[in-house]
Amino acid sequence: MIFKNCRRCRHRSHSMVIYVAVCTMSLLIGCSSIRNVHQNEQCSNYPNPQSSQYILPYATGEAYPVIQGNCAPEEYPWTHYGNLRFAYDFGMPIGTTIIAVRAGTVVFVRDNFTDNDHGKNQGNAIVILHEDGTYALYAHITNKGSKVRVGQIVKQGEGIVLSGNSGESPTPHLHFQLNACGDFTKCESMPVSFRNARSGTNRLEQGEVYTAE
Ligand SMILES: [Zn+2]
Repeated sequence: MIFKNCRRCRHRSHSMVIYVAVCTMSLLIGCSSIRNVHQNEQCSNYPNPQSSQYILPYATGEAYPVIQGNCAPEEYPWTHYGNLRFAYDFGMPIGTTIIAVRAGTVVFVRDNFTDNDHGKNQGNAIVILHEDGTYALYAHITNKGSKVRVGQIVKQGEGIVLSGNSGESPTPHLHFQLNACGDFTKCESMPVSFRNARSGTNRLEQGEVYTAE
């Protein structure tokens, strides 16, 4: 995903769901405040994969390549730096079933754009809130690709969306990101390990293919 600079999200609401939805919408339409952070200092510190709460975002037995990993260089065409430095892009065909990496509550859904819509305002996505207050963003999903609605509780491993190529996406893929808060303009992505990736893997490496075991 590519996020251009613009003013910070100022929308407020007494409802957390609406607040998150509005602010996430602002993110997806380009409202971001990417800071110049020293991105490499945290890029070797990942949670223990054996005790991770997270599984890969696709079905057991399936395998996909990481086409953009963490802590990318700050140059075209890379986008995973600054606030987005712990995001992963998994290359996969349009229509691949994406599963919930962790149980939670759906707080944002947008799936009205098509896979031929590539403007920065045209990325489909859903966001799920976890019990510890972290948020998962699943982006570039296909037109009408959401299987869930706002407010719905989902289980880990449940099919939630179909992948796509909407928004600022040069090739069909899933952009997955774990975030420290729901206002994606204010806080950063977080390092995440997947307990069903290759044994002992903490950081997924760009160019490698990972089977959901
Ligand atoms: Zn991405």
